[in-house]
Order: sequence, then structure tokens, then C-alpha cells
Amino acid sequence: MANDFAPASRFAPAGRFAPSPSGDLHIGNLRTAVLAFLFARSSDRRFLMRVEDLDRVRPGAQERQLADLASIGLTWDGPVLQQSDRYDAYSSVIGGLVAEGDTFECFCTRREILDAPTAPHAPQGSYPGTCRDLTDAERDERRRTRPAAIRLRSEVTSFTVTDILHREFTGDVDDFVLQRNDGTPAYNLAVVVDDAASGVDQVVRGDDLLTSAPRQAYLATRLGYSPPEYAHVPMVLNADHKRLAKRDGAVTVADLAEQGVDAESVLSMIAASLGLADDGEKVTMNDLGERFSPSALPRDPWIFDAG
Ligand code: GLU
Repeated sequence: MANDFAPASRFAPAGRFAPSPSGDLHIGNLRTAVLAFLFARSSDRRFLMRVEDLDRVRPGAQERQLADLASIGLTWDGPVLQQSDRYDAYSSVIGGLVAEGDTFECFCTRREILDAPTAPHAPQGSYPGTCRDLTDAERDERRRTRPAAIRLRSEVTSFTVTDILHREFTGDVDDFVLQRNDGTPAYNLAVVVDDAASGVDQVVRGDDLLTSAPRQAYLATRLGYSPPEYAHVPMVLNADHKRLAKRDGAVTVADLAEQGVDAESVLSMIAASLGLADDGEKVTMNDLGERFSPSALPRDPWIFDAG
């Protein structure tokens, strides 16, 4: 299914979709991708595709994800960016922060963090600050026991982002991890570096990531980037009103095809769920582009009964 959206200028700002290739996309992920595309295109942005393959990679998943996105009519500008190709970019940003004294080495295990008393007024679950002010001697001692993760030395405890659907959203910011102790750049760091490097100024994704946005936007400002505008869109839930998962039945393009639901019908279902088509109406991405209006988006989760 092709679409004939005019390509935005290569200097235009961009929106993006950034799947993790840990398995096949389900209809909820596809719906988020459609929304990211429509938000970008309706605001004359480029639409970029980024594969977040720093961890949890399942062989073949990336190829199937991209094929499924194309099958419902999504197109994107330029080559697909792979995070695994960008270690140098992440290292140089982390190195810059380390050199500025904006980070500290952390030797805590998950258990130690959970067991440590949090400072009064600190948000529940936030990093308790255990390794923030280690002396050189203490740090040397700890280095002999465990490799260090690198955390941002945060100067705030909360940060406010602008979200098209959630307006001003303020959330917790702690000394979050920039590089894990196995040397892998952390998701929060990679997202911020990639979005800035590729001109992304609009981030549309599932609202399960709303609470990550303040950390990411704060890190962006620490790095001298302007934080993007966000749109955290409602998730798709199963018949029990829990987050849709693959075990819920026929939820991927492949599962649905086996049941006789072709890609065109998948797009039609997604469109109907967004109030952009009547039930069963065949639509193209171009039709959706003409009908799309952010302010008319349903604000409640879509309940998808795959049973
Ligand atoms: N890779 C993340 C996911 O698949 C999305 C990250 C983002 O959009 O910032 O949930």
C-alpha cells in the first residue's frame, strides 16, 4: 500500500517512530506508528524510522516490523537509523558529560537501590544518591568489586514537558543512568541523542512513556538541545483492560492475516478506532491524512478484543 504524501523538505523538522525489535509489532504498536506518521505529515515534518536495537533484539524482528509498517501504507524518509550503529555518537556525548563533571559512577545493584532509604521528599523509586558523593578512595574500592554504571548528576527533581494531549506534564527526574554497567548506552540517553541528531522536534509514542519524557527533556536541555514537543497517545488494551500483549491472541499483522484479515483491513480497523473511518470502511493513508486532526483524537484507550 503506497501513499502519496509529498515528501517534506530534507531540512524540515521531523517526527519519528522508534520500535524496539524485540518481537513482532501488535496492532497497538501499529496504531501508534500510524499516529506518529499522521502527526508528522500533517505538520509538514519529515517522518523518520529508528530501530532501537541496543538490547532485547530478536533475530528477524526488525525486518518483519518494517515490512508490517510498510504493508499498512507507512513510508518514511531516508534510511532507517539503527541505534547499534551509533555507539560512537553516544560515547562522545557521555564522554562530554563525564568531562564536565555532570555524571558520577554508580556501583549499586538493583537490590541495593530498592533497599536504600530514599531521601525525604524524593519521589518513590528514585535513585537514593548512594554513589553520588563517594570519595576517591571509596570509588577506587568499589571499582574493584563491580563495573560502574554512569548516572547523570541531576540538578532538579522534576521537569515539565509540553505534550499535545497532556498539555504541561511535570514528572520526576532523578540521577538516572546514562550508561549501564555493561557499557551499553541507556535508552534515555540514546533517544535524546538520536532525536537531536536527526532533527526530531516532535515525539509521538505510547503514553506508557509519558513519565520518561521529563527525564529525556531535562537531559536534552543539559546537552544544549531544545526538547521536542510530545504527543503521548493512548495505548491499546485487551478485553480485560490490561495492556495489549502478543499472548492476547491475533494481534500482529501475521496473526490477523492467518484469520483472513489483510493489511488493508488492519489499517481500516486502526482508522475506525481513531474515529477516522467508519467500521469496515476501506481507507488509505492519504484519506487518513486528510481526515486527521489532533484535537479530535480519542483520549481513551482502545479496547481490542482479539479473542
Ligand atoms: N523503543 C521504544 C518502544 O518500542 C519507543 C521509544 C520512543 O519512542 O521514544 O517502546
